[in-house]
Amino acid sequence: MDEEIPSCALCGQPLTEEEIEQCEKQTERFSNQYLCFAHQRRFCGCPGVRSQTLP
Ligand SMILES: [Zn+2]
Repeated sequence: MDEEIPSCALCGQPLTEEEIEQCEKQTERFSNQYLCFAHQRRFCGCPGVRSQTLP
């Protein structure tokens, strides 16, 4: 058992390869956390909340 399977930072469920891939592609969006798809959606569900400056 060399490899540790990342689990969702919020619910702790083991992640699938696809979920891991998405997290690795978008580390900034997810603040370097691993998240399951359900929780990834939460992160992209509120565009503008994060790091958007007011005009
Ligand atoms: Zn989760």
